[in-house]
Amino acid sequence: ASRFEGVTMAPADPILGVSEAFKADTDPMKLNLGVGAYRTEELQPKVLDVVKKAESLMLERGENKEYLPIEGLAAFNKATAELLLGADNPILQQGRVATIQGLSGTGSLRLAGAFIERYFPGAKVLISSPTWGNHKNIFNDSRVPWSEYRYYDPKTVGLDFDGMIADIKAAPEGSFVLLHGCAHNPTGIDPTPEQWEKIADVIEEKNHIPFFDVAYQGFASGSLDQDASSVRLFAARGMEVFVAQSYSKNLGLYAERIGAINVICSSPDVATRVKSQLKRIARPMYSNPPVHGARIVANVVGDPTLFNEWKVEMEAMAGRIKNVRQKLYDSLSVKDKTGKDWSFILKQIGMFSFTGLNKEQSDNMTDKWHIFMTKDGRISLAGLSLAKCEYLADAILDSFY
Ligand code: PMP
Repeated sequence: ASRFEGVTMAPADPILGVSEAFKADTDPMKLNLGVGAYRTEELQPKVLDVVKKAESLMLERGENKEYLPIEGLAAFNKATAELLLGADNPILQQGRVATIQGLSGTGSLRLAGAFIERYFPGAKVLISSPTWGNHKNIFNDSRVPWSEYRYYDPKTVGLDFDGMIADIKAAPEGSFVLLHGCAHNPTGIDPTPEQWEKIADVIEEKNHIPFFDVAYQGFASGSLDQDASSVRLFAARGMEVFVAQSYSKNLGLYAERIGAINVICSSPDVATRVKSQLKRIARPMYSNPPVHGARIVANVVGDPTLFNEWKVEMEAMAGRIKNVRQKLYDSLSVKDKTGKDWSFILKQIGMFSFTGLNKEQSDNMTDKWHIFMTKDGRISLAGLSLAKCEYLADAILDSFY
């Protein structure tokens, strides 16, 4: 008998499990729209040219593999905070940001989760309904209580702004409010600049702490600055803000696990103390982070030529997604004889489209059409090619009606 008889089978992850099921399918028409990973028009993974250039620079320099400090690579931490807030942001000169390198977006969120659990016992994290599937796991494992605020309105396939504001208002004073900096996952629906101002008003009023998850900077609009404008708006009000960053999507560094947790504090003294505690949390978990992705980011962001080349490549990726978004909308509009308005697809931004397909309809997409997607009706347009838009439209219409 095994000592592990009591260990039950864990369910497959709702997002990464989709890729496993996709691999097992042998149909030639199969399409993986589950995980949000960028593909070329040929549906192949892409390594950015600037990443290859940064890597060859690193080889030429013969950089070593010594341990990084607990907080990660100093040049990366500097670059990542500057990318987030703008290099000339006075908050940086004032030394008010505690930044430590994290294991991509997920690991950075998890560090913040541990910090909240330790220093704000009992405080709740408010998360949007719906949200990226892993947010609930992260706060559950951090033993941080959470509840949801209204976000998506199925009637308009848009933002339930009044519901969102009401729920943030109704939450206990001093809660954390988790916000997607741009390109909300899974809905692709972001607040307008005016709505962000109102959200900031309510958060200030209630003494809540805003907590941004920035996983798509540059990928939503194609502009790094524009996609960080939500965070900068809160920071400019002098608020204390948490921000988790990821380079999985915008630099295509998925497997390098490179990101950061930034805590914007009211003074340099607070920032120093916060940083010391983040390091204390990281040390017994993984000791110190990996160097490779950090060097890539530091090289790309720190070198004006590579930085500009990155922007061009990112715009091209964001542009390809916009093209398939348009083509999918066109295909649906032409093929759908019911007169249904599909324009919500064009209003959504980022990698995803939230189709409004329910679980049964999403099952039909997979079972009958070999289109793999999460069961909440989300499809990753980054995994779609122009050539497959018609096929996808046929599948969506068949599943809908
Ligand atoms: N937050 C959101 C909203 C995401 O969509 C993702 C990636 N799917 C992440 C965080 C983190 O991803 P990673 O850990 O690869 O950086």
